[in-house]
Amino acid sequence: MAKRTRIIEGTWNCTSCDTKGIPARHKVCPSCGNPRELTGKESEFDFGGVDAKSGKSLREGVTDEPALELAAAGEDWFCAYCGASNRGDLPRCKQCNAERTDDAKAAVSRELPSPAEAPPAPPPKKGLGKKAWLALGLLFSCCFGTGVFGIWAGSTHEYPGSVTGTAWQRSVVRERFSPVVKTGWRDELSTTAPRMPVNGAGEVAGVANMRDCVSRQRGTRRVADGTERVCRTKTRKVACGTEEKCRRRDKGNGFVEEVCEDVTKYCSESYEDCQNETRYRTEPVYALQCAYDTYEWKEVDRRETSGTDDRPRWPELTASGVDRLRREEKYSVRIRYEDDGEKEHVLEPKSEQEFLTWKKGQGATLTVTNLGKVEQAVPR
Ligand SMILES: [Zn+2]
Ligand SMILES: [Zn+2]
Repeated sequence: MAKRTRIIEGTWNCTSCDTKGIPARHKVCPSCGNPRELTGKESEFDFGGVDAKSGKSLREGVTDEPALELAAAGEDWFCAYCGASNRGDLPRCKQCNAERTDDAKAAVSRELPSPAEAPPAPPPKKGLGKKAWLALGLLFSCCFGTGVFGIWAGSTHEYPGSVTGTAWQRSVVRERFSPVVKTGWRDELSTTAPRMPVNGAGEVAGVANMRDCVSRQRGTRRVADGTERVCRTKTRKVACGTEEKCRRRDKGNGFVEEVCEDVTKYCSESYEDCQNETRYRTEPVYALQCAYDTYEWKEVDRRETSGTDDRPRWPELTASGVDRLRREEKYSVRIRYEDDGEKEHVLEPKSEQEFLTWKKGQGATLTVTNLGKVEQAVPR
């Protein structure tokens, strides 16, 4: 598409006599004769406003030959001796006749931001709205707050302690492989002969005499039940004519080159996206449930012993014939320590070996979190 180029002339303010809006073509103030310099923002030009949508300059373009020639002369340079601005193509300072040196500062030509790339800032509000504060508060308490609290709560201290007592409890249970009646799903059962244990092992529970089968609900399943038309409103971008877009380049000499072109414009359009989707319903699933004879281990006798501050022992109980023995053990160690007052921690060792590392009166080291949770206790 065709590009349209214009040259926009900027204006500057003289800091010597305070004349405002001097056209850029004047490198010397027409009122007081002061040359335009780099200092005092004299060489920061005002190019006027731009249209918010297209980025097109609201100022008229210049068309007269002298101005166009100045605009095309390249970036200005500032004399290292007198500070005056000079045309980019001049080898000597127009003001003091000094030669252009390497340390003469040059103005910089650059692309100016277009309003499309930098959308106008929303109107300033007086502080944050109520919702914004609420959101900030939530953010603080949920994310930041939890994090800090978590770190604090998780950090630990070590405390010395001493064992005030130990206790143990042991049981021996005699179990017998005994007949029972159970129910099960017909398709999960198959008739199997039971086998009695020998020395408390090798038994088979078996499934025998399946009977009294009745139909019962076992669960549910989802079944397809036709289709239904489901529509959702969606949006898409569609081309809808053209719009003018302009880019501006600061030529570094008080002029801006503006290039405008017509680009395809895209609009949001909403449409209905419809599809046939399978509809489902839930229906119950039935199956046959039956009673049957089988065997399982049942407790027929139990002996218990317990003690404090001594070595654990097993109670006396013997198995005979089809019986078997099962052993249960439970240990505890009470440890007293100081953490904002006197505290007691009860440790429950899992095995006799672990329990025997503890003795009444023995020292211990406890690792306690800031929340008062004992993470570890080891003998000392
Ligand atoms: Zn002046
Ligand atoms: Zn000079």
